[in-house]
Amino acid sequence: MKKQRSTTEGKVNEEFATAPNVQWPMINDQYNHIVICAHVNPDGDAIGSSLALKHYLERKGKQATVIVPNIFPDFLKWLPGADSILTYTNQKHKEQAKTAIEQADLVIVCDLNQPNRLAVLEQDVTQSKAPRILIDHHLDPDRDFCQLIFSEPSMCATGEVFCHLLRERNEFDDISQDEAICLYTAMMCDTGAFSFNSNRPVIYEYISRLLAHGIDKDQIYRNVFYTATEGRLRLQGYLLYVNMKVLHERHAAIMTLTNKERRRFKVKNGDTEGIVNIPLTMLGIKLSIFINEDTEHPGIMKLSLRSVGDFPCDQMASRFFGGGGHKNASGGKLQCSMAEALEKVNAAIESYADLLK
Ligand code: 5GP
Ligand code: MN
Repeated sequence: MKKQRSTTEGKVNEEFATAPNVQWPMINDQYNHIVICAHVNPDGDAIGSSLALKHYLERKGKQATVIVPNIFPDFLKWLPGADSILTYTNQKHKEQAKTAIEQADLVIVCDLNQPNRLAVLEQDVTQSKAPRILIDHHLDPDRDFCQLIFSEPSMCATGEVFCHLLRERNEFDDISQDEAICLYTAMMCDTGAFSFNSNRPVIYEYISRLLAHGIDKDQIYRNVFYTATEGRLRLQGYLLYVNMKVLHERHAAIMTLTNKERRRFKVKNGDTEGIVNIPLTMLGIKLSIFINEDTEHPGIMKLSLRSVGDFPCDQMASRFFGGGGHKNASGGKLQCSMAEALEKVNAAIESYADLLK
């Protein structure tokens, strides 16, 4: 595969926008066993865009397997093809996943910009001899990781990058309803149901064209957002009432959740998805940080950062929490106690006092 770059930062560039001229090797005859991988703690965009790609490749006669590093939320399990996803940390799937990667003649990596975002999958993927293609929308993709990069950080989701490529290739009208459902879900999840990062008119052209395939977007919304367990709703109330600290002068809010509290409310990993966004609905709040003890690695604190407007969560995440992400939605990790994590978060917020006036 000829090494090629198809990426830009900020706005859609000419090179990327002329996709029919770029290489599109995944449907070539030489690739028949294709593995699609997404990032650790996969979200709706990671799962939706990976499954859309799987359905697309299967329609082209390929064998395509989606592999994720660890479990994904229950509210995505209804997606067409979700039951075929291999989860590496599930002992029943691990060997099958390893064999699929070993035997793959092509690996496509979705919704991540660096190999370490593959976590437990990283070694198998980087040791595989198969060429790699990246499809993503995060800033600064690692240019040495994949031979071919489709990356466009101005796009709202990896699902949108795929929509764009389908349109440029004149393939949009040929997609199946399953592909359309997965692509809609991917974009809906990464934009909070089109409530942020979603002002570019072309997104609504894609939505309109996806709807033309007969998808029920209202049902998709309910499947994803109206599926709380009693535990999740009560946990949400508890987090907001008891655990949320509002730093009024800094226009910021911090929430914490330990595994002990998680057990009390009988909630699983995905049950906390989206809770970090709630403090941003408070008038004047610009930044919300959720410190969440890792369920699989107690002693590691996972951080989720969300902002409105210009506050650069990605910069804060990479400077203070060894992470990154997007301007308004980022994450990172700390290896310390919850009390120490809280101190570090407070210090990080203080160092951005100027931007949080
Ligand atoms: P979440 O808060 O939902 O876990 O993550 C939000 C976004 O931040 C993700 O979509 C991803 O782009 C980014 N992100 C989360 N955790 C990390 C991390 O540890 N490293 C990097 N580079 N990005 C992360
Ligand atoms: Mn994404």
